[in-house]
Amino acid sequence: MRVLGIETSCDETAAAVVTEAGDVLSDVVRSQVALHAPYGGVVPEVAARDHARAIVPVIEEALRKAGLTAQDLDGVAVTVRPGLLGALLVGLSTAKGLAWAAGKPLVGVDHLVGHLMAVFLRREGVEARAPEFPFVALLVSGGHTALYRVDGPALGQIRELGATRDDAAGEAFDKVAKLLGLGYPGGPVVDRLAALGDASRAAEALPKPMARRDSLEFSFSGIKTAVARHVAQRAAQQGGPLEGQALHDLCAAFQGAVVDTLVRKTVRAARQEGVTRVVLGGGVAANRGLRARMTEECGRRGIEVFIPPFASCTDNAAMIAYAGALRLAAGERDDLDLAPATRTSLPRVTRKGGGAR
Ligand code: ATP
Ligand code: MG
Ligand code: FE
Repeated sequence: MRVLGIETSCDETAAAVVTEAGDVLSDVVRSQVALHAPYGGVVPEVAARDHARAIVPVIEEALRKAGLTAQDLDGVAVTVRPGLLGALLVGLSTAKGLAWAAGKPLVGVDHLVGHLMAVFLRREGVEARAPEFPFVALLVSGGHTALYRVDGPALGQIRELGATRDDAAGEAFDKVAKLLGLGYPGGPVVDRLAALGDASRAAEALPKPMARRDSLEFSFSGIKTAVARHVAQRAAQQGGPLEGQALHDLCAAFQGAVVDTLVRKTVRAARQEGVTRVVLGGGVAANRGLRARMTEECGRRGIEVFIPPFASCTDNAAMIAYAGALRLAAGERDDLDLAPATRTSLPRVTRKGGGAR
């Protein structure tokens, strides 16, 4: 089975062809990062317009690279939720038109399910280890930060265990980078500078985000505010922006605090669920500090960690094609009146005592 995936939920226009075994036949991602960089974040209207410009050439490229025409496909999978409505609509309308014209089945995919299944993608030349079910997944990106228990690929087999109450972790990296004048997106540059710094020299300025022991919720807006305060104080005392070693130390302290919280809660979730496998997903999974700490802390507790290659962690259509292929293989398909939605369809677990700060 060969399925075309289409992804336009946020700021990547992407198309890919993947088999139901997870083999990636093509994977095209056209990022809008440069377009949104002047604004320091994604502008919904700008995103939707650019998707409309890019979607057809991106799909054509994905088919060409896979050596296929639309007639060779077994189905079309498309992200229907969550995301920016205008952006989602571009991918969805295009997918419908293509599926109808080629006479192929259409399946909608929840973007978050795509991220959670990305660990099963098999890319040429990349050795991939795939986990067995169940596993606990930490999804950390610019728009999402949440923990899931995953018993299988279907919607009913995935439960959210906890999520951020305010900013996503990637969003915190982006906002902190903006405060420090480091540009957008902030994750990669903060990651690089953090490696040059010593967290202990700036740690006292920053709170540990939501360290409360029994909670699986996250909050990153407090640490962002603390960084802003620290930067303002330094500017008042020294009359200039933070730079050099002091900048590196602050990046190290910020990243250390975020990573510490992410790792602690992931380990806590695995223990609580009695699960011995942890999977990472989302753009922040590229963070070197996070990868190292997660591997170390889980290793010490006999928990196996699975971190997909970067191309599978950030937004892509291969994960959408694969999640769609699983739905098609299970005999599912959607009608042409399929509608986009801003929120995920994954259920959340309300735990006793959970929710309070
Ligand atoms: P969504 O939330 O819908 O998945 P997104 O486009 O915001 O969409 P991704 O493309 O998965 O998310 O990831 C982008 C985010 O990852 C940005 O916030 C970016 O700063 C962050 N990021 C990328 N590399 C790193 C890194 N090395 N360290 C920390 N954060 C990183
Ligand atoms: Mg993105
Ligand atoms: Fe995403």
